[in-house]
Amino acid sequence: MSLVTLKEVLQPALKGGYAVAGLVTLGWEDMRAYVAAAEAEGCPVILQAGPSCREHTPLPVLGAMFRHLAEGASVPVVAHLDHGYTAEVCRIAIDSGFTSVMFDGSRKPLAENIAETAAIAEMAHAAGVSCEGEIGFVGYSGGEGSAGTDPEEAAQFARETGVDAMAISVGNVHLQQDKQGGLDEARIRAIEAVTEVPLVIHGGSGVPLAQRRALARGSKICKFNIGTELRMVFGEALREAANRDPERFDRVQILKETHDPVVAAARTVLQSFKGA
Ligand SMILES: [Zn+2]
Repeated sequence: MSLVTLKEVLQPALKGGYAVAGLVTLGWEDMRAYVAAAEAEGCPVILQAGPSCREHTPLPVLGAMFRHLAEGASVPVVAHLDHGYTAEVCRIAIDSGFTSVMFDGSRKPLAENIAETAAIAEMAHAAGVSCEGEIGFVGYSGGEGSAGTDPEEAAQFARETGVDAMAISVGNVHLQQDKQGGLDEARIRAIEAVTEVPLVIHGGSGVPLAQRRALARGSKICKFNIGTELRMVFGEALREAANRDPERFDRVQILKETHDPVVAAARTVLQSFKGA
């Protein structure tokens, strides 16, 4: 049994100078591959269920899958809700056995974001569950633009909400398919100077590997969310497997062939967040 909370993996990361990957799952095949990768690397992993995952599979089913994998794993595994937009979805996740919830109030005015996040952090903590919040707004590639995190607002947010982890907007963008961007290190330094809360980078796929490595070791960023780059590997492996034999129709046989490529790609991701 190695199901743990977000706080239980991020506090050691903060002290030890490394980061933990929040890997975006869409189904059984990728979540199983991510746990296999974490076991091969001997490091903790955060399995995340975001809005598109939940649209496909109900939260109680996802909670049971995460818990089943965690209980059989040799490394710590966090069952995390990504981008919960309402108190209700966070409550259902907690009732479904998740050990961590992210409440995303980042589109709301500051006072509202703080008040709602604080209430959800309190509900989560009462259930022994961790809570992540977001301050500033992390935009979407080809969609909504970002609003960079103001360090003073981040300090206030951390103080008044009691969150265990704080997602910040420092040049990161969701759904990036290349690594042309990179993070605004001056803004990261200004934020970490005024708070002790572990920081989270959403849209980690767009961050170059060298910068991931450097920041994992030398900043208060303790969690990088990685989705797009692993979804691309899964999709490519699935397409190849489906096209390899036009006679084949059994989906388990086809899906099996995604396992090794996804494990290999996830191992590369996990390696970049390790300590020195
Ligand atoms: Zn996100």
